[in-house]
Amino acid sequence: MSDAPSLPAFTYWPTFPFEGDIRVKRLLDPVEVEPPRHGENPNECRACAAPDEAYIWVSERWRVRSLDRPTGLPAVLILESRSHLDLGDLPNMLAAELGVMTVRLERAIRSLDGVARVHVNRWGDGAAHLHLWFLARPYGRLQLQGTFLALWDDILPVIPEQQWRENLAMVAAWLAEFGGRPLAEPPRIDWKSPASLKDSSPILIEDAATAPLGDAGAPDTAEAVAEGTVGSTGPAADVAPSA
Ligand SMILES: [Zn+2]
Repeated sequence: MSDAPSLPAFTYWPTFPFEGDIRVKRLLDPVEVEPPRHGENPNECRACAAPDEAYIWVSERWRVRSLDRPTGLPAVLILESRSHLDLGDLPNMLAAELGVMTVRLERAIRSLDGVARVHVNRWGDGAAHLHLWFLARPYGRLQLQGTFLALWDDILPVIPEQQWRENLAMVAAWLAEFGGRPLAEPPRIDWKSPASLKDSSPILIEDAATAPLGDAGAPDTAEAVAEGTVGSTGPAADVAPSA
């Protein structure tokens, strides 16, 4: 106990998601050779193998996808090159397009209701295929500012699926204004006639009790941070480096 390192200052930041007794883990010895990341062999890369339908928007050279279910933040999106390249491998044209795409996607997500800021992250420790994370930070939630947003994504209550789908469709439509193809559709409106409402109200109550909206075990951003789940590829015909 006594030789445990003292806690770093960030554990006292208002944004740090945990309280109570915590200890710093023992630092393991470095390995001689790191294990391969997912997709180091392009033939086994999930991103390369993923069909366009797995994305919310695609273009010739870029693709944008979401997680497969809603999480705590209004939007968590991933920008991928369609080609099997990592960040440092990008030729100048794609590197320039990455800048344009990053700005465009940031604007698209920031245009959503209730989004104050968009965090852009690239780790690349889990998967070899280039993928940048975009996390929407809800307006007014000062506690979610900065470093720990990806952790908070797993802690916050999951947003309603309908709203999640609306957000994805809005972002896809925004991107499509500049080219490419939107693949996310807004949710269908489930109109009920007054008669059917009356008939089925007891059932509705039952449904509500037994069918929570797909919030069981969402793949989270923390997992994303640890990386490895992501699989997809994407293009953007639209991006002009000179823009
Ligand atoms: Zn790949």
